[in-house]
Amino acid sequence: MKLKLAIQKSGRLHDDSIRLLKECGIDISNGVNKLKAEATNFPLEVFFLRDDDIPQYVEDGVADIGFVGENVVYEKKKKVTVVEALGFGKCRLSIAVRKGEEYTGPSFLEEKKIATSYPVILGDFLRDNKVNAEIHEISGSVEIAPGIGLADAICDLVSSGSTLFMNGLQEAESILRSQAVLVKHEQLTAEQDQLLARLLFRIQSVKKAKNNKYVLLNAPNEKLQEIISLLPGMKSPTVLPLAEAGWSSVHSVLNENEFWDIIEQLKAAGAQGILVVPIEKMIV
Ligand code: ATP
Ligand code: MG
Repeated sequence: MKLKLAIQKSGRLHDDSIRLLKECGIDISNGVNKLKAEATNFPLEVFFLRDDDIPQYVEDGVADIGFVGENVVYEKKKKVTVVEALGFGKCRLSIAVRKGEEYTGPSFLEEKKIATSYPVILGDFLRDNKVNAEIHEISGSVEIAPGIGLADAICDLVSSGSTLFMNGLQEAESILRSQAVLVKHEQLTAEQDQLLARLLFRIQSVKKAKNNKYVLLNAPNEKLQEIISLLPGMKSPTVLPLAEAGWSSVHSVLNENEFWDIIEQLKAAGAQGILVVPIEKMIV
C-alpha cells in the first residue's frame, strides 16, 4: 500500500513541495510531463496536478493527502482536513485599489466592481462587512482589470506588492494570510493514517530544524555559569573542556526568534569564537 500525495504540477508551490519531500529523505523520480511518480524509498505515490484541483482530488480520495495553499483550500470549500502548515508559499489575499485613492475601510467598496479569482473568500469578506459590491470573477491577470476599465478594485494574492505597484494599484486591506498546508482526506484507513504519521513526523523534524541553529562557543571557565544560564539547549547545553586550561567549549541549540538577542548577550558575557551551524533534522 502506498500513500497518494497530490502536489502542484508546475508553479509557485512545485519546487518547494519537491524540496520538502527531499528534506524528508524521500526521493521521487520526477519525469517532466508525467502525471504521477513513485517515491523510491518511501511508500508514496505523487500526483502532479493544477493547484485548483487538489482539494477536489483529496475530498474524493483519489489522493489521500495534498500540499496546497490555504487560499485554495478556503476558496474551494471542499471536505478536507488541514493537518499541518508547511512554512512555504506564504502570501496574502488582499484588496487593492488605484494608487492615490483613499481607502477608508470595507465601506469604500460599496457599489463598486471588484475583479478576483477568489469569489468565495471575497464574498464572505463582503458579507461579514455588510458591503454590497459586484464581484467580477476572472481566472488570471486580475491586476490589469482596473487599468482596462473592467473593475474599480481587485482582490488578489500579494507577496511583495511589486505587481500591484507596476499596475498602478496599492494594497488597501489584507483579507487572508496564506501558506502551503498539508490537507488530508476525511476518512483515511488506519494503514493510510499510519503512513501519514510517519511522513508528518519527518515534516515536523525538518520544520523544527529550520527554526533552530546549533551554536558552539568558547568560554573562560569563570564565565561558564553565566553563559550556560543564557542557553536553553535541547535538554541543557553540552560543556567540554578545551585543551587550553581554564577554557571550555559550550554547545547548544538556539531558536531563530531569540537568536540574535542571545548571541549579543553571550558576547557580552565573555563568549568567544561563536560558531552557528544549520541543523538538518531535529528529532525531539
Ligand atoms: P496552477 O497552474 O497549478 O493552477 P496557479 O497559476 O493557480 O497554478 P501559482 O501562481 O503557481 O498558481 O500559485 C500557486 C500558489 O502559490 C497560490 O495559490 C498561493 O498559495 C501561493 N503563492 C505564494 N505567493 C504568491 C504570490 N505572490 N502570488 C500568487 N500566489 C502565491
Ligand atoms: Mg491554480
